[in-house]
Amino acid sequence: MSALNKILIVDDSKLIHSMYRLVLKRYEGCIIVDAMNGLEALEVLARENDFDLILLDINMPVMNGLQFMEKISMENLYRNIPIIVISTEGKEEDTLRALKLGAKGYVVKPFQPYLLYELIEKITNKKETIFEAAMKRR
Ligand SMILES: [Mg+2]
Repeated sequence: MSALNKILIVDDSKLIHSMYRLVLKRYEGCIIVDAMNGLEALEVLARENDFDLILLDINMPVMNGLQFMEKISMENLYRNIPIIVISTEGKEEDTLRALKLGAKGYVVKPFQPYLLYELIEKITNKKETIFEAAMKRR
């Protein structure tokens, strides 16, 4: 199941970074790289763009998740890296905006790890995401 080799976590909370590290232990041998905001994430991507997945917070100083997604959506180089948005309850508009900018899925904080696993597996197996299915039905 470990098709995942490298994940970029973008969040302004160090506590959240350690939480993700625990949750992602399931993906044995997977390298996890931390960025504290969108700008830092862009700097990481400029150095290494071989990530299988990006977990992205929306609310961050310097450059937030939506601004990051706007930048990313203009860069062909990063287009193939799937992004999962970790959104906050009551911020549905931001989540929708992120999906429109190309995020492959989202989970709402606080979430059960299995929800994230399901989403990761769906996305990395290149199965249709809930959002894609919903878009087709429109
Ligand atoms: Mg935050």
